[in-house]
Amino acid sequence: MKVVHISAECYPVAKVGGLADVVGALPKYLNEKGTQASVIMPFYNVPYTRDAQVEVVYEAGVYLDTYHYEFRILKDNNRAIGFDLYFVDIPELLFEEYVYSQDDTKRFVAFQIAALQYIQTQKNKPAVVHCHDHHTGLVPFMMQHCTMFENLKHIPTVLTIHNAQYQGWFGHDQQSLLPTFNKAHVGLLDWDGSINSLAAAIKCAWRVNTVSPSYMEELMERANGLESLLSHERNKCTGILNGIDSSVWNTATDSFLVKNYTVTSNVSGKKANKKWLCEQYDLDIDKPLFVFIGRLVYEKGSDLFPEAFEKILKDGKVSLLLLGSGDKETEASLKELKTQHPENYNLHIGYDESLSRKMYAGADFLLMPSRVEPCGLNQLYSLRYGTIPIVSNVGGLKDTVIDVDNNGYGFVIQEISVTAIVEVVQRAAVVYEDSAWLQKNRKYIMKLDYSWEHAASQYITLYNSLKN
Ligand code: ADP
Repeated sequence: MKVVHISAECYPVAKVGGLADVVGALPKYLNEKGTQASVIMPFYNVPYTRDAQVEVVYEAGVYLDTYHYEFRILKDNNRAIGFDLYFVDIPELLFEEYVYSQDDTKRFVAFQIAALQYIQTQKNKPAVVHCHDHHTGLVPFMMQHCTMFENLKHIPTVLTIHNAQYQGWFGHDQQSLLPTFNKAHVGLLDWDGSINSLAAAIKCAWRVNTVSPSYMEELMERANGLESLLSHERNKCTGILNGIDSSVWNTATDSFLVKNYTVTSNVSGKKANKKWLCEQYDLDIDKPLFVFIGRLVYEKGSDLFPEAFEKILKDGKVSLLLLGSGDKETEASLKELKTQHPENYNLHIGYDESLSRKMYAGADFLLMPSRVEPCGLNQLYSLRYGTIPIVSNVGGLKDTVIDVDNNGYGFVIQEISVTAIVEVVQRAAVVYEDSAWLQKNRKYIMKLDYSWEHAASQYITLYNSLKN
């Protein structure tokens, strides 16, 4: 069965968040299970594409209203990636050093049209077109209702929602950017008076899934305005928990680590990575090290960090290290905190894959008090790297972490507040003193299986249910 994924991000080419990790891994695991999966993504001006060996497989033009853009489809010749990867090269719109900007409407509309034009010319058409998030949310509508894609009408489509906060809104005055369609169907594009790409995909895709079962349940209640739509479409919606790419996230082979380790050698391995972190960031290796890795945004609970960290750091019993960027006010308060607690706290504002890997390996605990977490990959990486996750009771976190008080292996807070964060850190710091338990638990969590094997099988079952 041939499945084409269309996505704005794909690891290792361009990654902003978890979407890239999924699109960079799922196709590989689908292929291993006999599905012929490929990815189509934009050709950005990023390190990967600058060095890529590509061949031109298709050339044409895309019309957006009165604008005309030449485009090429480039096939990546890197076999190591594990699936066929195609780039949509529209130099004027897509070849930028960033993935997203303030106004992406034209960029992603053009990308989606070009991707479909290419699919349309293929003799062996896909059995399923799988799109991801709002950036590719117009694909199901265009396949069904745009006259130029008439021959794609009967191909089933799947939408995976990685994050429902962002929906790809634009005004009806920009309707003419889309290829010609029967105006009787304009309602399928609309939600609350504007064009809403995610809503259009929820309405038009044959199946919709989120990246964890709990997130799907939560979206029925709170989905940035789309709750009633999702409830209405409930029968075609499911939740499939993401896996992690165990070949990329492997403590025995991860080349970013200071020292590699396995379940049996975790003590010396984790210690070497912790030592490196503590030396680099002036922290005390003998104290339990708590880390945060991620975007500093409201959904991640990061607005609570300045006050919570201040309280946590006061008694000097633990160390905190933070990696991330986002809200400028939060960044400033977190930087300011360093002047008051230089001996127990440090931070790196920015994106750094290499540092993040060393933090997953060298930390004792990973903090993740998210308000919204569709799946959450960090807690899965931390489990695999033997670092105990401290999470809130939402979305994929709820589906993957069990509190130590319920015979589990992590820490779960029931409310997202400064007090809850401070208390859970204190609770974890006490448990840290029990080195026998700590060691047993680390071995246990490193062996938990959250690989893609299982998730890929669930996607194949979903695709098979669409065969017509
Ligand atoms: P998001 O909501 O950001 O998509 P996910 O948990 O789904 O969150 O995925 C986050 C991914 O991005 C993880 O692989 C995490 O390690 C990585 N990540 C986030 N912020 C940073 C950063 N500042 N530096 C390095 N990696 C980061």
